[in-house]
Amino acid sequence: MSLKRRAFIGSLAAFALPLSPQPVPLRLRQLASHIYVLDAHNEEPNADNGGLVVNTGIVAGSHGVLVVDPGAHASAGRALAKTVESELKMPIVGVVNTHAHPEHVLGNAAFAHLPIYASAQTRQLMRQRCQMCLQALTRLVGAQAMRQTRIVLPNRTLASGDSVAIARQRFAVKVFAHAHSHGDLALFEPRSGVLFGGGLAYRERIPEMQEASVYGWLDALRQFKEWPVRQFVGAGVGTVEQTMDTTHQYLAKLASTVVDQIKRGGDMNSIATEFTGPWQQWSGYAKRHPLNVQRVWQELETLWWNGQLPP
Ligand SMILES: [Zn+2]
Repeated sequence: MSLKRRAFIGSLAAFALPLSPQPVPLRLRQLASHIYVLDAHNEEPNADNGGLVVNTGIVAGSHGVLVVDPGAHASAGRALAKTVESELKMPIVGVVNTHAHPEHVLGNAAFAHLPIYASAQTRQLMRQRCQMCLQALTRLVGAQAMRQTRIVLPNRTLASGDSVAIARQRFAVKVFAHAHSHGDLALFEPRSGVLFGGGLAYRERIPEMQEASVYGWLDALRQFKEWPVRQFVGAGVGTVEQTMDTTHQYLAKLASTVVDQIKRGGDMNSIATEFTGPWQQWSGYAKRHPLNVQRVWQELETLWWNGQLPP
């Protein structure tokens, strides 16, 4: 075959390949002397973003690095390891999974040889359903992005009240039985004031509540006030005002609006028109917010029937 012909077929083949996910700059952004973040897309997983929607927290110790939420698949985990080693000149020595949502934990596939920390509930949930989560995420982002991704369970357990040293850095630990998910883990690093809180705070994006408890989540955000937090790293990254406070405002307004409607004998549809606020401009408002209304309605109507709604 002539070179020209081969080049032509090659260009056709390249044309037929699925489009690669939008690249996120694989550059660490420094938040404090020893704390970095690898930024991700501020949206839900889809074929365009390749599931790269989780901001990964990075803590540099003296001889190694701890990463919090290593991303959605094996190639995200491997790319993370490469970036950390080339920029910080140290290996990753430990991984934290904040909660059992697939885009946060399936990057474990690249770190099976390391200590992987999580709450007992997260480990249990991953054991029960990660196979299903893997299939669900593959449907959303495509088999190409998820190639070589296998399930690797956490092998170390953290509990509320623990004070742990990982990668020679000390962290305070809280675990919430039911907030954004079941068994959300949060790590606070007191020297920098950085809180690694997984799905517990967003920034200019509608929170995902598919298995949340709105009151449990509000309580978790209240408990964070016990720590002198300066920055939050998780679903959103930013100051307390930009992340935890705005997430609290959305959840509190949603809860109070739903309670008001339930008590008045109203219905879910009216919440779409009454629920005005800055969140109307946030990412995911059209798609995620109506699902949140249904979810919170279901939770609070059950409390109401049982006489457990606050007055
Ligand atoms: Zn989540």
